[in-house]
Amino acid sequence: MDMRIVLVQGDITAESVDAVVNAANSSLLGGGGVDGAIHRKGGPEILAACRDLRNSHYGKGLPTGRAVATTAGRLPARHVIHTVGPVWSPDEDRSELLASCYREALRVADELGDRTVAFPAVSTGVYGWPMEDGARIAVETVRAAATEVEEVRFVLFDAAAYAAFEAALAR
Ligand code: ADP
Repeated sequence: MDMRIVLVQGDITAESVDAVVNAANSSLLGGGGVDGAIHRKGGPEILAACRDLRNSHYGKGLPTGRAVATTAGRLPARHVIHTVGPVWSPDEDRSELLASCYREALRVADELGDRTVAFPAVSTGVYGWPMEDGARIAVETVRAAATEVEEVRFVLFDAAAYAAFEAALAR
């Protein structure tokens, strides 16, 4: 079945979808940016679930490029899928790790039966990934993914990010 890709400019915590993807850090214990917004709006249930995951599976942290799901707490979603993007490096090509975030998040969504998934532009904030390149990798990876997900919504915080994704989609 064909996947629909939709672009939205705004705050990902307002999206009614099956799964909201979080650009987490490997500690899973919260941070700034989209991570901070998700925990603030979703409430303490998400952090409690992240703590449990840390204790049961990820004592050393969730590895970069991987994804794991929790409750969505008070967000209008069924799950939050936490993924850890790579920090941008001028010396090393970490594109495959960034692509892995999108692929793994969709794989987790498939496991949960989630059919609509909202993604932020992973790694393009504090982690410094250039927006045009981050958008290209996001769109190419999602398009190429073998998944049952029916709708991917890229939720972009500002007009520049939206424009970068629009350009990537047009290619
Ligand atoms: P990372 O550490 O992976 O770079 P950030 O959260 O710092 O994660 O940034 C990832 C992207 O998410 C950035 O483009 C940032 O502008 C955007 N962003 C920040 N807050 C939100 C939000 N509430 N909804 C959607 N996107 C957001």
